[in-house]
Amino acid sequence: MAIRKIRISTDEVLRKVCKPVKEITPNVLTLLDDMADTMYDANGVGLAAPQVGVLKRVVVIDIGEGLIELINPEFIEVSGSQTDHEGCLSIPGHSAPVERPNYAKVRAFDREGREIIVEGKELMARALCHEIDHLDGILYIDKAMEEGE
Ligand code: ZN
Repeated sequence: MAIRKIRISTDEVLRKVCKPVKEITPNVLTLLDDMADTMYDANGVGLAAPQVGVLKRVVVIDIGEGLIELINPEFIEVSGSQTDHEGCLSIPGHSAPVERPNYAKVRAFDREGREIIVEGKELMARALCHEIDHLDGILYIDKAMEEGE
């Protein structure tokens, strides 16, 4: 378990498309552990692997309801819309309003390699959308409705 360095928005690693995890190796488990430590240390509600410089489709989220680990997450349903201020650990000190689906349902694998379904609305849907965007090199500022302060 270790805290990793969070990459900041000018780092081009944040703009790459991440590769799916083919096999859940000890390295992937360490990555999950370190990502959770790093997210909690930074008081974040989510973290995606490219934010610690790893181009794998791995996300951790905790909106205050417990840790969720997602390997190779894919949307299977989104609906509705919501607009709220959003920030990112890779863009410190900045936030801006972003329109997101109000509901999202995601299929992924857990650390045991079991298929899991994670769904949620409001903040959970926003966190899922924000973190999965990171896996495709997309930052919230690409979708922000206006400049934040
Ligand atoms: Zn982010």
